[in-house]
Amino acid sequence: MIDKPGADTPHLTLVSQEKKLPQKAGCPICKATAVKPHTPFCSRRCAQVDLGRWLMGDYAIPAHEGADDSDLNALLAQADKDPTLS
Ligand SMILES: [Zn+2]
Repeated sequence: MIDKPGADTPHLTLVSQEKKLPQKAGCPICKATAVKPHTPFCSRRCAQVDLGRWLMGDYAIPAHEGADDSDLNALLAQADKDPTLS
């Protein structure tokens, strides 16, 4: 009942899986492997490309216009009622 030594080596697959882990988080710009100082980007260049997209409005953040309008209306109504402001 003695098997050949080394026939069952599950740790080998574990090691190869560990090696693949960093590739899970790829660069959002070019999908390359992210590199530590630039995470989640692969390079400074891709980080700047992403920053540029933000600045150019590609990732425009939706403004909460509804809330702003009601705030403005409330302020206007308050100003109309307040005799010290008019
Ligand atoms: Zn990249």
